[in-house]
Parts: sequence; structure tokens; C-alpha cells
Amino acid sequence: MRIGITGTPGTGKTTVADTLEREVISVKEFAKEKELGEEIDGIFEVDVDAVEQNLPEDCWIEGHLAHKVGADYCIVLRTRPDILEERLEKRGYSQEKVTENVEAEKMDLILSEAYENCKIYEIDTTEKSVEEVVAEIREAVKNEKSKYAVCDWSSFF
Ligand code: ADP
Ligand code: MN
Repeated sequence: MRIGITGTPGTGKTTVADTLEREVISVKEFAKEKELGEEIDGIFEVDVDAVEQNLPEDCWIEGHLAHKVGADYCIVLRTRPDILEERLEKRGYSQEKVTENVEAEKMDLILSEAYENCKIYEIDTTEKSVEEVVAEIREAVKNEKSKYAVCDWSSFF
């Protein structure tokens, strides 16, 4: 089974993956290493179909494209838009990129894409520690639990 950790940039995918104590493949790093994609205007565009074909059948993957590369089960990390905005600003993203990602989070964009593609388990990380999120992921995956519609960001519009 391919288990994905997806979510809008800044929701904590990489931090959580690094805390899981198991191998988690970064979709972007995997694609770059195997040259599955192309560089357009200095930005590496991942070829999701090629990544899907090249990934091992059983693995954990993380990245905002994890739900597009053949994951059977996906953890979808969420963060309240105002907190996400702070995290992305701290990361040094341009205002344009901050807005783009905050808008995507408000609209449940990744959640709805993932919902179309695989069984999902959604977690609101806003008021949780990294350790709490990791514990919830372990429990969810062990029982292949499904959960969604836990976040309501409509008050941010
Ligand atoms: P992503 O890989 O989704 O873009 P990162 O893991 O790179 O996100 O960054 C998320 C940031 O949010 C980190 O600075 C991390 O310390 C912080 N953070 C705060 N709370 C949490 C949480 N509960 N789970 C994951 N990350 C969190
Ligand atoms: Mn990341």
C-alpha cells in the first residue's frame, strides 16, 4: 500500500514525516533524483504520472502532490488560514505565494483533490503539537481509518 501525507505547503508534511521514524519519500526529491519532470523557468515541474509508475508499491510518500502519485490512503494535513499565513511568511515566501497557498487552504483544494483519488484521513494541525499529529497518524494508518470534513475555514472569506 502507498500511504501519502499531503496538504497545502506549510501544513507540516515534512516536519511530521521527519518525526515518524520510518522512511518517507519526498515526492519532489524522488522526482528530481530520477529526473521525472522538467525545469520550467527555474521551477521543477514534477511529472506525477512518471512518479506514480516509478514509486515502490509499498511506501510512504509526502508532499503536496502525494495524493496524485498513486496513494491508496492519504493523510491530509490542515492548518487554520491565519496561522498558515504566519508560517509561510516566516518561511520567506513572497506575498503572492503566501496568498495563493492561503487561498488554496481556505477552499479545501488539496482535501477535495485527495478525496477524489484515495481514502483520506484529515487532521487539523492548528492546535496540535507535531508529536500529537504523528501519534494520530500512526493510529489512523494502523486501522485505515477514514475521516474528513473536520475543518471549516468559511469564516475566513
Ligand atoms: P510542509 O512540508 O507541509 O510545507 P513544513 O513541515 O516544512 O510544512 O513546515 C511546517 C511548519 O509548521 C514547521 O515550522 C513546523 O515546526 C510548524 N508546525 C507547528 N505546529 C505543527 C504541527 N502540529 N504539525 C506540523 N508542523 C507544525
Ligand atoms: Mn515540505
